[in-house]
Amino acid sequence: MKDTAPSLTSVKPAGRKFTGTDRRAPLRGGLQGCGEYGAGQTAGRFYPIACVALEVTQRCNLDCTLCYLSDRAEMTYDPPLSVLFARLATIHSHYGPGVSVQLTGGDPTLRKVEDLETLCREIKRLGMRSCLMTNGIRASRAFLIRLAAAGLDDVAFHVDMTQERKGFASEAELNTVRRAYIRRTRGLGLRVLFNTTVFGDNFDELPSLARFLRDRPEVAFVSFQMQADTGRGLLRERPDAITQDSVIRAIEAGYETPMHFDTASVGHSKCNRYASVVTAGGRAVSVLSAKQLTHKVMAALEQADESADGHIDIRDSVRRLVRRNPLLALRAGVHLLGRVLRLGSGLLRGPVRRQSVFIHNFMAADALEEDRCASCVFMVATANGPLSMCVHNAQRDQHLATPERIDGPTGPSWWNAAVPRLSGGPDLPDLNDPALAPLKRLKGQMRALRRTQKDAS
Ligand code: SF4
Repeated sequence: MKDTAPSLTSVKPAGRKFTGTDRRAPLRGGLQGCGEYGAGQTAGRFYPIACVALEVTQRCNLDCTLCYLSDRAEMTYDPPLSVLFARLATIHSHYGPGVSVQLTGGDPTLRKVEDLETLCREIKRLGMRSCLMTNGIRASRAFLIRLAAAGLDDVAFHVDMTQERKGFASEAELNTVRRAYIRRTRGLGLRVLFNTTVFGDNFDELPSLARFLRDRPEVAFVSFQMQADTGRGLLRERPDAITQDSVIRAIEAGYETPMHFDTASVGHSKCNRYASVVTAGGRAVSVLSAKQLTHKVMAALEQADESADGHIDIRDSVRRLVRRNPLLALRAGVHLLGRVLRLGSGLLRGPVRRQSVFIHNFMAADALEEDRCASCVFMVATANGPLSMCVHNAQRDQHLATPERIDGPTGPSWWNAAVPRLSGGPDLPDLNDPALAPLKRLKGQMRALRRTQKDAS
């Protein structure tokens, strides 16, 4: 068990309250401060944050061997909609319209579908994007149809061997689940993402899994998340064999092409690596093969940007770029066409699609690096404001226990995760009270420990 998480104030979050006119400035400053704001940096240049997680429940219908939730998650109450609306307003005031809001948990599908519909509508009303982050077990087609109708933009399915789904002994066998999930989304207009935790027991399967995902034209975004020693999961330290470089090599082996993960950055290079490919008929070609040209185009897009709300409007900026610098636009177009033509016979076998590939390197809870936390591009909306996901993972119970003030039409009320509904005063039960943690409501490490103690007594 970890009891060494830093205090709430020991690591400065990147989600400082926005007070100026340039919403990208705080993240840009964080990245500049640690030497990560080079010519290929997209964060703080084109957007103020990559995404913000809105945790709509701490409950989950799985108990993964690697899980960022806390052992106490199952004894929390779900935040009322008024709390979630207040957090959405905070996200909007920090980062403006255009930001991607991840409806996550726990598994968000454990909430009533009506609640999720309401949240999707509110996110749309605020001009932000919504993404449902789910293990897919309860995300039936009927469920997804309702959310798509309510304005859901993206669905991200988490499927891998850490989930210990019964009847599946390998990532290859789990492809049956992945195929079924893709079928559920057909024709709904949702952008489909897949998340995979990379850990010791599936690392050897990474190339074949990457190839499977490469060959799914319906999948727009693939994220590989490296094992991290954080949260309640039973597995802890990452094996030495799993590094950013070894994961890149395994993915490139699967995609059967160099992918140029060093051309464009999304935040700190120790946290995130990004590649973009075009695919067709079982082949993939990297789009970012010309580093200098990519950086020139990025600089020109930045100059052409006239957006006032913090998120660059890429279409508008491209139109302006074509008008102001037609030669550069032509060079970029010719480059892109050349890359597509390299798909060769694949062009005869299937549609051309673009796919983003992401490697995410969460930090261990007891080894947070201050510069990475201060330039974090993935935030969580908490009672204490937006916070770096790694910091939040290290401090979950403290944030869940914090009384959050909600101002309503009849005056203020308070909520924390130890109570089911808003209360008239801030004097709320302490979520970390051991009496609230009976064995049957624990998951992860604490349950394993209690079981061992019980068996020994
Ligand atoms: S969540 Fe952690 S690993 Fe990801 S960008 Fe933020 S600090 Fe880096």
